[in-house]
Amino acid sequence: MAAAEVARQGEGCRTVPLSGHVGFDSLPDQLVNKSVNHGFCFNILCVGETGLGKSTLMDTLFNTKFEGDPASHSQPGVQLKSSTYDLQESNVNLKLTIVSTVGFGDQINKEDSYKPIVEFIDAQFEAYLQEELKIKRVLHNYHDTRIHACLYFIAPTGHSLKSLDLVTMKKLDSKVNIIPIIAKSDAISKSELTKFKIKITSELVSNGVQIYQFPTDDESVAEINGTMNSELPGLWGLSRPEFDQGNFAGLENLYPNTDIIRNAHLPFAVIGSTEELKIGNKMMKARQYPWGTVQVENEAHCDFVKLREMLIRVNMEDLREQTHTRHYELYRRCKLEEMGFKDTDPDSKPFSLQETYEAKRNEFLGELQKKEEAMRQMFVQRVKEKEAELKEAEKELHEKFDRLKKLHQDEKKKLEDKKKSLDDEVNAFKQRKTAAELLQSQAQQAGGSQTLKRDKERKNNPWLCTE
Ligand code: GDP
Repeated sequence: MAAAEVARQGEGCRTVPLSGHVGFDSLPDQLVNKSVNHGFCFNILCVGETGLGKSTLMDTLFNTKFEGDPASHSQPGVQLKSSTYDLQESNVNLKLTIVSTVGFGDQINKEDSYKPIVEFIDAQFEAYLQEELKIKRVLHNYHDTRIHACLYFIAPTGHSLKSLDLVTMKKLDSKVNIIPIIAKSDAISKSELTKFKIKITSELVSNGVQIYQFPTDDESVAEINGTMNSELPGLWGLSRPEFDQGNFAGLENLYPNTDIIRNAHLPFAVIGSTEELKIGNKMMKARQYPWGTVQVENEAHCDFVKLREMLIRVNMEDLREQTHTRHYELYRRCKLEEMGFKDTDPDSKPFSLQETYEAKRNEFLGELQKKEEAMRQMFVQRVKEKEAELKEAEKELHEKFDRLKKLHQDEKKKLEDKKKSLDDEVNAFKQRKTAAELLQSQAQQAGGSQTLKRDKERKNNPWLCTE
C-alpha cells in the first residue's frame, strides 16, 4: 500500500476502487467553466515618474488605446488615477483596472511621495476586509480592486536607483507584488544595460527590497519562471560587502559563469510603442529613429515579450493569488490584531472568535465603567469647584451690597442735611419776604394819605403847580 494511502487511512479515510466511470474527474472542467462564465479581474499599478512611458506601455501590453491625456509636471502632489476597462479575448472576459501615479517625482520635496500610493493600496485592502466582515457578503460579484501587480518604472539613467525609487519600493514590498522594469530602455546601450540591471538588483538586495518572485512550484511553468528568477542564483538573501557597495568585480568572483550575469532579465528592460511599422513583410510595433528602428516585440531589442509572458500569459493567476494569500492576509492579520482579535491566549491555547468577542466585550465594558467613574468624579469635582466659585461670588456680592448700602446711607444723610439747610434757608427767605411785604404795604398806606392831602390843597389853590 502506498505511503499516502496509509496516511489517509490513518486519518479515517479508506481508498476504494471504482468499478466504473462516475464523472468527478470533470471537476477541473467545471471549475474552468465557472471561472470563464464569471470572468476575471486584474489590477495593475504603474508607479514611476511622469513621462517614463507608463501609459504607452499599458497600451502596448494590452494592444489597445486606453483613454487619458498626458500628465503635466506641475502637480503639487502625487495622485493616483484609476480606470477600469472590460476586455475580451476569445471567450474570456477580463475586468482590467489600471492605476497610474500622477505627479510622481515632480515635486521638490519628495519625502512623502510614497504615502498616497501606500494609502491607496491599503484602502483597497480595507474595502475588501469590510466586505468580508459584513454579515451579508456579496464577495462573488464584488469588484475586487486590490492591486495584483505593481510595475515599478525605473528611469534609464544607467547609474543607480534614485533614493525615491528605493524608499517607495521598500514601503510597497510587503503590500504588493513589485515587478521592477527599466523604462524607455532604448535610451541605454547594451553593455550599460547589463551593468545597470546588476547594479539595480544589488541595490535592491542590499536594501532588503523584496520584489515578486515568479513561482516555480508548478511544473508547467517552473522552467520558464526559474530562468527569470535564477539569473543570479542565491542573490536574494546575500549581504556581501561587494553587493552593498555595488562592486561588480566581486559579483563576477561570486559567479564565475559570467553568462549568468549577462543573461540577467530582471529588471525587465522595456520599450513601449503603439506605432506599427512594416518590417520585412510584417506589421510590427516599433519606434523609428533617424538611425534605425527598435522593435518592441523583438527579444534581441528589449524584454517586452518576457514581461508580457511573465505578467499576463504565465503568472497572472499567481499574482492574483499572492495578493490574496500573502499581501491581503498580512493586512488582514495586522488589522484584526490591531482591533484586538487573536487566535491564541497568552498560554498559546486556541482562542475562539466567541471568546475573543466576550473578552473584548468585557474589556470594553470595563473601560466604559472606568470612563463613567472618571466622568462622575470629574463631574462631582466640577460641581464642587463651581459651588465654591458661586459661594465666593455670593460673598463678594454681599460685601459689595453692604458697601453700596453704606454709601447710599451716607449719600442719603448728606442729602437730608442739605435739604434741611435748604428748608431753613427757604423759611428764612419767606420770613424776610413777609417782612418786606409788610413794610411795603405800610409804605403804600403812608404814600396814599399824602396824595389826598395834596389834592385838597390843589383844589383850594389852582395856581399851585405840581412837580
Ligand atoms: P507617462 O507619463 O509615464 O504615462 O508617459 P507616456 O506614456 O505619456 O510617455 C511619455 C513620452 O514618452 C511619449 O512621448 C511616449 O511616446 C514616449 N515613450 C513611451 N515609451 C517610450 C519608450 O519606450 N522609449 C522612448 N524613447 N520613448 C517612449
